[in-house]
Amino acid sequence: MSKSIAICGAGFTGLAAGLQLLKLGYKVTIFEKERWPGGLADGFKDPSWNWTLEKHYHHFFTNDNKVLDLAKEIGHKIIIERPNTSVFVDNEILQLDSPLKALTFPKLSLLQRLRMSLVLAIFRYNPFWKPLEKLKTTRTLPKLMGKKAYKMIWEPQLVGKFGKNADEISLAWFWARIKKRTTKLAYPEKGFLEFAKNLVQEIEKKGGKIHFETQVNEIESKNKIKLKIKSKNIRTKEFEFDKVIVTLPSFTFLKIARGLPSNYQKKLSLLKGLGAINVVIRLKKPFFPKDIYWLSVCDKNSPAMAVVEHTNFMDKSFYNNEHIIYVGKYLPFNHSYFQKSDEEILKTYDPYLRKMNENYKKEIIDYKVFRAPFAQPLIPINYSKIIPSFTTPLNNVYLANIQQVYPWDRGTNYAVEMGEKVAEMITERDK
Ligand SMILES: Cc1cc2nc3c(=O)[nH]c(=O)nc-3n(C[C@H](O)[C@H](O)[C@H](O)COP(=O)(O)OP(=O)(O)OC[C@H]3O[C@@H](n4cnc5c(N)ncnc54)[C@H](O)[C@@H]3O)c2cc1C
Repeated sequence: MSKSIAICGAGFTGLAAGLQLLKLGYKVTIFEKERWPGGLADGFKDPSWNWTLEKHYHHFFTNDNKVLDLAKEIGHKIIIERPNTSVFVDNEILQLDSPLKALTFPKLSLLQRLRMSLVLAIFRYNPFWKPLEKLKTTRTLPKLMGKKAYKMIWEPQLVGKFGKNADEISLAWFWARIKKRTTKLAYPEKGFLEFAKNLVQEIEKKGGKIHFETQVNEIESKNKIKLKIKSKNIRTKEFEFDKVIVTLPSFTFLKIARGLPSNYQKKLSLLKGLGAINVVIRLKKPFFPKDIYWLSVCDKNSPAMAVVEHTNFMDKSFYNNEHIIYVGKYLPFNHSYFQKSDEEILKTYDPYLRKMNENYKKEIIDYKVFRAPFAQPLIPINYSKIIPSFTTPLNNVYLANIQQVYPWDRGTNYAVEMGEKVAEMITERDK
């Protein structure tokens, strides 16, 4: 008889693991607390739009082979574009998304540009990340590329993303960001939520079961694994499985798993991360003067880290001809912004947005603020020494979450890779 596996979470890790395990002959049940799949990459749809839109900006790089192969396997169309990526420096928008743009960047001298471009090229072509994980980005990068380029372009982005924790980030993380970037970007037709829904259909076609609006509240490993589940319709119910894969953030795992030894609890609770807040603004007119998709705000005092005009990447006709921007920021979950109302958040960003487009407010159709309590792991030096393994001290309980992606920066591609890897590991152990 085939073994039963429960998967907690229907984000891309849980969906990829589920599909792989079904192909390997397991009986799969997925529990998801939300009404839909997709996790951090899920989306929403205004009734007037034809496509769904992510709550937080999302794209694939064209070398995100794991997720692109998965899309191909289930017949979900992928669109490839070459959008404009720029930086906002001294109140000016400057394109910086290719070696040529780096070599001709007007705010730096020829020597500074050459030095920065050389360092970026070395990061791009060097396959060895391990020696870099011992180094801190904030200490090493200015020495390598020169203070001027670092202070103008890279330090504001690091601080914009990691805030007070920027000084902890390892150079391996920065290496991964440069190594992986592609000038062309990809996007699933109709949005990430539609892609996730197609994965759900594929899982159900193969006999898997997915329960939405169903939260896992307790995991206990005895002879079998007992899960306490609470859903909209049933109050609390217990189910038994042979194995469980948990794709939830580590702090949730710590809260719901019974009997974890204290040294493991301590190890897991030392891993840090940031939440994210994104404002999605729907406009009648374009926000940027040019066809800019991504604008990194290179100003350490800016409350926003990036402004992303999604409809300069995917055509506005899919969204009832509206122009859609994201204004994004990563913050610790205990930051005061998480307590602010939607209006207060927009008011905080407003002076900066007006620097880019003085009249944008007159063009607003509507806006929404989305908050994710855990969105970006902090990757300190020597992360390979503290990264948790898929196996946990609880027999037959596996952990596969965003904090186990390394050296690459987390993303749906690595969620798929991790889901497939943990499925294969379980199969190997069962042989
Ligand atoms: C601002 C932002 C921008 C990003 N940009 C990109 C990008 O451009 N490209 C890219 O590829 N990736 C991007 N990512 C990252 C990407 O979204 C994640 O890496 C990926 O979605 C993680 O998938 P996951 O399945 O591991 O985790 P999650 O998506 O977090 O899935 C976990 C699931 O578990 C569910 N859950 C939680 N608790 C319970 C419980 N008790 N019981 C049942 N279910 C539960 C959650 O609802 C969720 O669906 C971005 C993320 C953010 C926040």
